[in-house]
Formats: sequence, structure tokens, C-alpha cells
Amino acid sequence: MIYLDNASTTPVDKNIKEIINITLEKFGNPSNNYLLGHETKKVIERAREQVAKAIGAEPEEIYFTSGASESNSMAIAQRKNCWASPYEHHSILYNPKVEIKNNLEESILDIHENFDDLMISHMLVNNETGEIFDIASLLNLCDKKNILFHTDATQAIGKINIDVKSAKIKMLSLSGHKFNAPKGIGAIFIDKSITPITPIIFGGGQEKHLRGGTENVPYIVALGEALEMSIGKMCKSYFYYLKLKQAFIQKLSRYKNIDWRINSPQKSISSILNISFSGIEGEVLAAMLADKKIYVGTGSACDTGNFEPSHVLKAMNVPEKYINGAIRISFGPQNTIEEINKTVEEIVKSYRILTK
Ligand code: PMP
Repeated sequence: MIYLDNASTTPVDKNIKEIINITLEKFGNPSNNYLLGHETKKVIERAREQVAKAIGAEPEEIYFTSGASESNSMAIAQRKNCWASPYEHHSILYNPKVEIKNNLEESILDIHENFDDLMISHMLVNNETGEIFDIASLLNLCDKKNILFHTDATQAIGKINIDVKSAKIKMLSLSGHKFNAPKGIGAIFIDKSITPITPIIFGGGQEKHLRGGTENVPYIVALGEALEMSIGKMCKSYFYYLKLKQAFIQKLSRYKNIDWRINSPQKSISSILNISFSGIEGEVLAAMLADKKIYVGTGSACDTGNFEPSHVLKAMNVPEKYINGAIRISFGPQNTIEEINKTVEEIVKSYRILTK
């Protein structure tokens, strides 16, 4: 198997599996006021510190959730109105409160009334193309106008440096399964200046009454450890993925009579490469590769089975003839140059069959 869909999800790291197993033994309910409970409470708090440190926040500003979809929903619950970019993940775009704005800065400058009930959401890194968005001036504008700013950092975590305080980010979402922790665990950072915080899951007093439900202790611990690991090797990973990306592009460039383009902008994370071929469906190409046990993503992995052209590529004005022929290659630490070479060869074979 060649797995090149790491932006969709990642395998759980071997050491993290071990940590999960050890933590499973600590079965006490963290809400219980006896030793068994204190033990699990302690490991949760350590994970909270790890997450906080990774993004330059304070531990009391971190709340554990089931993943980025929940974190995004919780963020949007903080204001009556939310404006978002057209590049956002569906967990933002499909939120009924969200209004898409093609140019958020212009839209903000156009309002002259009260800003109290408005928030802005703009991702740091796009999940389909890997684009790193330059949101500094948007952040400054929101800060100046006192508009609550949220960012979906799901694809940015462990790939680029994030410091919420110096960037003036007020809320941030992240998800464990993008950096070798399990699926179903995530976190949200909410700046302590934001009060009161509106919960979306009601129940017990967990997470300071803001997210009811007995904590998923082993996965919370896994999230903290995996995050620390991924930040620790971020620089090394960057160069490794860059090498894989360049090898892929160089190898594909050597073949003649293939009409393809790179959709990922120059300023992208090194682990995502979105490319398009004209005259074919990316979904069909991905299915042919999957038959050979080579797994790549298409428009958006969360949209599998959906042949609609990607909303992200549409928003980027990718030329019509390429819009349906996109695939997303995303690298992980397990990938090798040999796998890249084999994948390119198989892509070319499939392309020749499809365009015959
Ligand atoms: N936002 C982005 C940018 C994503 O890539 C994803 C996962 N595809 C999500 C949110 C949703 O994350 P989760 O699966 O943890 O709900």
C-alpha cells in the first residue's frame, strides 16, 4: 500500500498507541474527587499544557472537543453572525450562521454599524491545496474593529509556526487525526478575554462547564503527546516533504504529452500537492490508483462520492478544463521516494488509458 492521503487522516503513531494503552489503564472518572479520579484529571491537565504550549496559549484557554468540526461549531456559536472565506472546510461553510464573503477585509471596511455580534473565520492552511493564507492584515483589521477572529488551523498544526497571542488570534480549532493521534479528538483555543463562552454541548461540569461529557482521557493524552511530537519534528518534516514534493513534480515533468498543472500556490505547506489533469475526472483517476493500492485524495476527501468540482479550486479560479481533474497528494513520515516514483508511473499509466 502507498498512502498519500495524509491531509485526510494519518495513521496513529506507534508510540502514541502505546501511550493510549497505558492511559486506558487509568480508568478513573476525572470528575471524581478521589485518587483514581485525580490521576486521570492530572494527565488531562498535562495534555492541556502541551496543547497550549504548541500554539502559545495558556492552558486554561484550551478546551478538548471531538475534533475540528466540533471546535469550528463551538467557535461559531460565540457570535450571532459569522463571515467566512470561500476556502473554508464544510464544517464552517455548512454552518447555517455562516455567510461567505469573497473579500473579508473589504466587507469589514464596508460596515459602519455596531460590530458586537459579528465574528470572522478564516483558515490558516487550506486542506485541499495546502495554501498558507496571509491573514496578518485581516487579523489586524479585526483587532482594530474589535471583531472576534477565529481560525481553523486543522491543516496548519505541526506544519507552520503558530503563536496565537502575537498573531492576535482569538479562537483556533485543531484536530488530532491530522498529526498521528486518533480520530475523534480535537481542541479549541478560546482567548481568556472572551467571556462568557457559549457551550454547544451541555451536561456536567467538564471543561469548565463548557463541554459536557466524560472526557476521552486516553485520546486527550494522545492528542497532547502527538502534538508535542509533531511540533518537535516540524522543521525536519518540512524539508522531508519538500523533497518528496519536488521529486514528484520532477518525475511527472519528464513525461511528454500530459496536460497538467499544479493547483497548490507557491506559498503552500510542503506536505500537500494539488495537481490537475485536463480531460479526466480526478475521482476516476483516484479510483484507478486505489485499485493498485495507491491512495490519494481528490477535491476534498471529506466529500468523497461527490463529483461536484471543488469549491476551493472554483474560488481560486482554476481554469475550467482542469477543475474536475484534480487530485491531492499529501505526504506523511512513512512515505518514501520509491513510493513517489511508483505513484507517478501509475498516474501516467492511468492518464494514458483515460485519454486514449
Ligand atoms: N477543517 C479542516 C481544514 C479539515 O481539513 C478537517 C478535516 N478534513 C476538518 C476541519 C474537520 O476535522 P474533524 O475530522 O476533526 O472534524
